[in-house]
Amino acid sequence: MATLDSKLVNVVGDRTAKVLDTIFGYKTAGDLLHHYPRRYLVRGELSDIAELGEGDEVTILAEIFSSSSRRLQARKGSMLEVVVTDGSAKLSLTFFNQAWREKELRVGRQGLFAGKVGVFNGKRQLAHPDYEMIPDGNDVDAAVENFAGKYLPMYPASAKLPSWKIAQCVNLVAQSLDEIPDFLPESLREERRYPTLHQALLQLHNPADLDQADIARERLTFDEAFLLQLLLLERRAELRKLKATSRPVRSAGILEAFDAALPFELTAGQKFVADEIERDLAAPYPMHRLLQGEVGSGKTIVAIRAALAVVDSGGQCALLAPTEVLAAQHLRTIEKLLGPLAQGGMLGASEIATQVTLLTGSQNAAARKDALALAASGQAGIVIGTHALLGDAVAFHDLGLIIVDEQHRFGVEQRDALKSKAVNPPHLLVMTATPIPRTVAMTVFGDLDISTLRELPLGRQPITTHVIPVLEKPTHLDRAWERIREEVAQGNQAYVVAPRISAGTSEDADLDFLYGESSPDIASVEELGPLLAGGALKGLRVAPLHGRQSAEVKDATMRAFSQGEIDVLISTTVIEVGVDVPNATVMVIMDADRFGVSQLHQLRGRVGRGTSPGLCLLASSALPETSARERLEAVAGTQDGFELSRIDLEQRREGDVLGANQSGSRSHLRLLRVLRDEGLIDEARKSAEKILEEDCELERYPALKVELSILQADAAADYIDKG
Ligand code: ADP
Ligand code: MG
Repeated sequence: MATLDSKLVNVVGDRTAKVLDTIFGYKTAGDLLHHYPRRYLVRGELSDIAELGEGDEVTILAEIFSSSSRRLQARKGSMLEVVVTDGSAKLSLTFFNQAWREKELRVGRQGLFAGKVGVFNGKRQLAHPDYEMIPDGNDVDAAVENFAGKYLPMYPASAKLPSWKIAQCVNLVAQSLDEIPDFLPESLREERRYPTLHQALLQLHNPADLDQADIARERLTFDEAFLLQLLLLERRAELRKLKATSRPVRSAGILEAFDAALPFELTAGQKFVADEIERDLAAPYPMHRLLQGEVGSGKTIVAIRAALAVVDSGGQCALLAPTEVLAAQHLRTIEKLLGPLAQGGMLGASEIATQVTLLTGSQNAAARKDALALAASGQAGIVIGTHALLGDAVAFHDLGLIIVDEQHRFGVEQRDALKSKAVNPPHLLVMTATPIPRTVAMTVFGDLDISTLRELPLGRQPITTHVIPVLEKPTHLDRAWERIREEVAQGNQAYVVAPRISAGTSEDADLDFLYGESSPDIASVEELGPLLAGGALKGLRVAPLHGRQSAEVKDATMRAFSQGEIDVLISTTVIEVGVDVPNATVMVIMDADRFGVSQLHQLRGRVGRGTSPGLCLLASSALPETSARERLEAVAGTQDGFELSRIDLEQRREGDVLGANQSGSRSHLRLLRVLRDEGLIDEARKSAEKILEEDCELERYPALKVELSILQADAAADYIDKG
């Protein structure tokens, strides 16, 4: 008899075990049983092609009518289109990057095809259907009758290991399987009316009907969510055991003086979050908080206030920024807002004043030496910097708070590097302007407490966004340049954003990865700059900004732009995060379809920050009704960053949503989809909280404890962002 840990060799034989190992990395019976079917071919319930409706899950018996594959231009890869017919009508099947299927899908062969009916360019199709070909020369009726059960599981397969072969192996394992112990607490299982783990696994592979398969799948999905939440809650509990220096707000300090000098009223949301943070800082264990907020919602002020609270208690704050442009801007903002309060140590300075210093990789030796000394002595209450902050030479007198701006640009290791510079575990505040739905945040950053800023400060100007379809309406681009001239004539400023620095390169390695071959016709800063300066924008003060420039040039350019000495900044996505120049009112984004939805939202957040409304023009060659065009229309259609991040996430694969570590074959998240399973994740979270409340060591649930420790061991090997 076999258990989940039994070696596959002993169950399915040498040769097959080897193939399973090479292709999927499966070694045990459990590995294979966790290879779940995607869907089922339903024997005896075949649909007529003529009657298929969009969105139907169908199984059809059909013959291959034609087959052709072609390389894709815009994206690297190939598309295989197979047209099948059942005599009544035709249907096309499409496969992206699976050219090897062409060999099986030969004209004249018959097979069963299953999938969800979609519509593309007005034609019904099945994208990536599952199928089972009838062996050549076999009688079709007999072959169809031959399928064992009524619901034939269709597995993620490959040329070497077709679905039916996997089904055979699963059956072998199932036949010799001992009762699998269930780790889900009995009471929880009963409450949710779930089958046992043993039943669920067998039923998912071989269901009596589709309802049974659904319940089995839900149980296994819940398991994933439940274990994950337990893991994250335990991590949080671990953090609470750490001892941090408590930093309660004190009266008559620098924070109070700052608040009094602030030229505006905090929004209700800012006040709420500020309270949460103050409470966290006063606690004897480290704060571990994510502040996510709509672009322009005023996260920086909230962060500065947290820093000042720590300064008031005699500690220091390190503010980590992703780019030199942003670090320098933070310094300017903080110095401006603090005024004389940033002159600590100077003659005649107030007693509560502090110093703010900047540490970046491109500073000259003298500036760097000063900054290092200020940080080490504790004279600098706030140390702003880029990656340079992480270096070994950087030491603090009493590092009490770490603030990470635009946290998606940093890894956990980098946060840890900073943490190690503190005597006691420091408080941590990470900020992101790419808001994500709560369940996603809970799954990705589950051990962080989450604060969200939804509202924008009062009087914030609306941003109007339009798509400029350059192929259909080439003159509209001329109109865009005119708009820039008009805005500049009124004393405002503009951004022009291009995907690339120079022809054939891109600022974002992502872009090259995504689009493969360099496309010469994609706009670049180096080409666009001279072109506009000598043409459509002649006479305006135009300057380029991109990541290959030296830090001095970048800083000087940003400074000049924010002081109004430059009219139009032609830039790559270096301005994507955080740049705050209220006088900028219009932005033209070239080849906008090359950017992600959230990225476009971030970019356009650079305009409309002052007293005049913002205008964002998305120039693109994408044709109507393509998905690229639809993404742009979506950005133009809403200003709600949360909605847009959802669209963004829906288009990405789960592995990308949760980080690369979840996508491998050893992943523990096989079924869970953070967007689709929001409800389930919420429920799992509550169940996990309840269990831990009653029994924080899981003494009463030994099987669960074991399962969790396996997960924890893998987590140590980077199962999920450690927060
Ligand atoms: P983000 O959340 O995108 O980082 P910032 O912190 O850069 O936003 O804030 C955007 C702009 O709004 C800044 O110029 C900031 O000074 C201003 N701001 C922040 N809070 C308020 C407020 N309560 N009222 C008015 N303006 C504010
Ligand atoms: Mg910001």
